[in-house]
Amino acid sequence: MIDKYKKAGKIVSEVRKSAVDYIKEDMKIIDLIEFVENKIVELGGRPAFPCNVSINEVTAHYTSPIGDEKIINSGDLVKIDLGAHINGYIADTAISVLIGDESENHDYHLKMIDASYEALESGISAVRAGVEIGKVGEAIENAINNKGFNSVSNLTGHSMDRWILHSGVSVPNIKENNPHLLEEGDILAIEPFATDGIGRVTDTNEAHIFRFLRDRPMRLIHAKRALNKIKSNYKNLPFAQRWLQEQFSEHHLNNAMRMLISSRAIYPYHVLREKSNAVVAQSEHTVIVESDGCFIITE
Ligand code: MN
Ligand code: MN
Repeated sequence: MIDKYKKAGKIVSEVRKSAVDYIKEDMKIIDLIEFVENKIVELGGRPAFPCNVSINEVTAHYTSPIGDEKIINSGDLVKIDLGAHINGYIADTAISVLIGDESENHDYHLKMIDASYEALESGISAVRAGVEIGKVGEAIENAINNKGFNSVSNLTGHSMDRWILHSGVSVPNIKENNPHLLEEGDILAIEPFATDGIGRVTDTNEAHIFRFLRDRPMRLIHAKRALNKIKSNYKNLPFAQRWLQEQFSEHHLNNAMRMLISSRAIYPYHVLREKSNAVVAQSEHTVIVESDGCFIITE
């Protein structure tokens, strides 16, 4: 089990590094996303969720819809968030990249990225068995505040379990009186977000990432087929509509997805943006809690 976590961690850290080399100005977002997802498979893993490429005030949960024409521009602060699993054992990591070096806010945005990374390091330093989880949030928030930014308070890290990306424990990004104690062997994704905005995210109307919720009787044959494929291919892990496009016509897939959402057979993750439309930076690692610290599997 630990070996599988370590293997998944090695894959995502290698793909994260390749993605940083690969990303460039004027590239389509979907090209970066497909590069990441294909590379995970090449290295022997499966994507644990669609690669998220969230830009500037878009904070999380953006993946490309089918035929996405959106471009990465000079000056963009791009958050690349990727996950891989080996037989359900998940590693989750994210990095922020600033595109080009000519934007007016270049140094300021680099400092924001540093703040999220230092907060990640501080949060990780606070992790060991027996520590109250609120202390991890406190370390994260302090590190971000010390750099002159705000921590995004309503996004959190999360515990993970086999086939489960969010397995019930939230790792706060702010100081919190949460008495939950970390235990040896816990698998945690730690993911601070730094911003100069108010530090809250809100839902947009867009959703391109989904997750199986429950079986529902579907009258429409394509909806029934899609639900069966989703269940068997991704279990409870998030997926993108893109991933089903080869097996259905566009029209049938759109109808099926609409029906699956409205019958609550699948859950849509809405794209999140910072509420005051401020730019946000993110850094993320997955760790295994140990008696005297933790092991970073995505380093
Ligand atoms: Mn992530
Ligand atoms: Mn995560």
